[in-house]
Amino acid sequence: MKVLVLNCGSSSLKYQLFDMEIEQPMAKGLVERIGIDGSRIKHTKVGIDSVTKNVDIANHKVAIKHVLEELLDEKVGVIKSLDEITAVGHRVVHGGEKFACSVMIDKDVIDALEECVPLAPLHNPANLMGIEAMVDVLPDVPQVGVFDTAFHQTMPDYAYMYGVPYHYYETYRVRRYGFHGTSHYYVANRAASIMGKPVEDLKIVTCHLGNGSSISAVDGGKSVDTSMGFTPVPGVIMGTRCGDLDPLLITFLAEQDGIDPKAMSHILNKESGILGISGVSSDLRDVEEAAEKGNDRAGLAEKMLCYGIRKYIGAYAAAMGGIDAIVFTAGIGENSIPTRAKVCQGLEFLGAEIDLEKNNVRGKETFISTDGSKVKIMVIPTNEELVIARDTKKIVSETK
Ligand code: AMP
Repeated sequence: MKVLVLNCGSSSLKYQLFDMEIEQPMAKGLVERIGIDGSRIKHTKVGIDSVTKNVDIANHKVAIKHVLEELLDEKVGVIKSLDEITAVGHRVVHGGEKFACSVMIDKDVIDALEECVPLAPLHNPANLMGIEAMVDVLPDVPQVGVFDTAFHQTMPDYAYMYGVPYHYYETYRVRRYGFHGTSHYYVANRAASIMGKPVEDLKIVTCHLGNGSSISAVDGGKSVDTSMGFTPVPGVIMGTRCGDLDPLLITFLAEQDGIDPKAMSHILNKESGILGISGVSSDLRDVEEAAEKGNDRAGLAEKMLCYGIRKYIGAYAAAMGGIDAIVFTAGIGENSIPTRAKVCQGLEFLGAEIDLEKNNVRGKETFISTDGSKVKIMVIPTNEELVIARDTKKIVSETK
């Protein structure tokens, strides 16, 4: 069975075609600048060859047609006919409270996703564009939606409710949803399997640290708390997002500088976090380099990030009544040796001891705790696309 996985942003589209017999991608690629001058497609036949083509790509439907052409291409393609694509799995950012697991997409699901647009106005419209374009181009191929929020639907109400008047929950579904669910699910289950224990018996803190970051408490394989909230802005500081704030800071700043809601959202989403504090970059690599050269604000951004992560780990250990493992994943979690070292310094009281030599690793699945550490500390590269492909295969097989 071959499954095409699509992740659509407002001007980009990432894809991977999986051979599900071996659970490996055969081809992958990225379409950038959709609807903008200078659009291009980069396509890779895994392990063989890559091509980049500069072509006019006016919308997502045109982008999908280019993707299918590359998949069929004589030289860099991997299939002979589109009939070989059994199903398409779509990453969908927000499934609200309606979707606690992946679903086969039909007209009712599309309507329900449209209802979720106010919950994720930056992401869901792009996901919907991808779904509608794909349904248009391959109308007979089953399409499955896999939601970033679904894994966190197991959180108890006392963890997901906010302390605002209850009617806001009833009217607008204002609550914590959490994101990066497929990643937290994948690394928690990988951690259990590497430890050789059932995930049901483990309490794990999963740290997905990338351009966007979230930390989750996974108890017995279920998400019981997570640092992102109603939106992906709260939690630890991120590339350009502010992380946790005193909510009245927002009204204070709005009044001081006459900032309207749209401009405020831009400041908190795009101008804050590591970029806002360091004034250097949203990319932690640049910030680490600047800090090393003596830039104090870059050093402060690093310290705020590591301190924030450590606080969440401590809080979630308390929330779960103990902890068996800490997992680092995504761009920063997989690659930033100093971040992992600084986060773990001071966690010895929990029984978590990092081995600084083992920590000297990037992008590889491995233990980085000392042999005697009660709490296992691990680096596990995430694989959200594989989770989407597996769920798609499962749902399509069940509905046959
Ligand atoms: P992601 O969103 O998971 O793709 O992560 C992207 C982020 O990971 C980048 O913006 C960087 O901040 C960070 N990153 C990637 N490689 C490294 C590295 N070697 N050292 C520090 N940070 C890194």
